[in-house]
Amino acid sequence: PTGEPEGVLVRTSDRYAPDAADTDRVNATLLALVRNSEVDEMVSSMNDLERTWNSKFNYPWTFFNDEPFSEEFKKKTQAATKAKCNYEIIPKEHWTVPSWIDQQLYDESTAILEKGGVQYAKMVSYHQMCRWNSGLFYKHPALQNTKWYWRVEPKVHFFCDIDYDIFRYMQDNNKTYGFTITLYDEPKTLPTLWPETVRFLADHPEHLHTNNALNWLTDSERRPAHNKGAQGYSTCHFWSNFEVADMDFWRSKPYEDYFNHLDRAGGFFYERWGDAPVHSIGLGLFEDKSKIHWFRDIGYQHIPFFNCPNSPKCSGCVTGRLTDGEAFLHHEDCRPNWFKYVGLG
Ligand code: GDP
Ligand code: MN
Repeated sequence: PTGEPEGVLVRTSDRYAPDAADTDRVNATLLALVRNSEVDEMVSSMNDLERTWNSKFNYPWTFFNDEPFSEEFKKKTQAATKAKCNYEIIPKEHWTVPSWIDQQLYDESTAILEKGGVQYAKMVSYHQMCRWNSGLFYKHPALQNTKWYWRVEPKVHFFCDIDYDIFRYMQDNNKTYGFTITLYDEPKTLPTLWPETVRFLADHPEHLHTNNALNWLTDSERRPAHNKGAQGYSTCHFWSNFEVADMDFWRSKPYEDYFNHLDRAGGFFYERWGDAPVHSIGLGLFEDKSKIHWFRDIGYQHIPFFNCPNSPKCSGCVTGRLTDGEAFLHHEDCRPNWFKYVGLG
């Protein structure tokens, strides 16, 4: 049973034309934070997604950058789609390192992370990127009237033909968040994320959803031996380079309060909190877990991991294989952990 979900709206072609005034599209955009230097990798991702899905639905693309997009970037990306492309600069106040981050503490903390082998520990733009993806992208003025997004990174792959409107599926089935891959994280990147979260919950017990996935976040049974978790957090997270989600959840008071608490705590810089664990904890605590959907039918790769369905609609990946990288990477998969608590959704 790996085909598309039952009862989804099928495309009625002209209402999905790029410029259709009377459209069946819902209020959504494809969204990418990307550098000018990654234009060819971005076009590669676009080619895959346009071929398998978006050429049938023509959702607009919105590109974000911390500096102006080059003419070359605009030309090459617009040439990859019939849909409208928007090119947006991130406001300085969304990207700049916050005033309360102490430079000396940043230098010292990240030196320790680097010694511990944490990738990108000393790359300040990586910390800025994780913070922006965690709590700022949906505040961009260009997205103020947009509800849904599908996040796409440069150099990812899509393998399966999808013939239904993914965004409409989310809307019609009352979903908030869709993912393809879940992984354990490197505990060294977020030692104090869970303690900060517990502190936040003590101040705001009212934000905890009655149908939360707290037991998924704190699961200890299924951890691989090399991952002891991070002070109570299993580190299992939705891999956020792929996300189809409703920005109104990030805009809700529980998540907004949570992000502000984390932002003040400083771990986006003194540690290397990723947007994937931050989104995942936010969803696991403040959202109804039945609103989180595994897109088993979307074949996807971001190096080094795959989601590869068993379906004649897919080609270019090996069914069920998580990685063609080294064997130890297989232990990173925590989908069984999610299914154990939430089922297949
Ligand atoms: P990784 O997947 O964790 O290795 O991180 P990536 O290097 O792929 O970065 C995640 C996403 O953010 C990619 O889409 C990058 O293009 C984008 N990104 C990361 N840093 C920057 C930056 O400083 N500026 C811009 N414009 N995009 C960035
Ligand atoms: Mn990436």
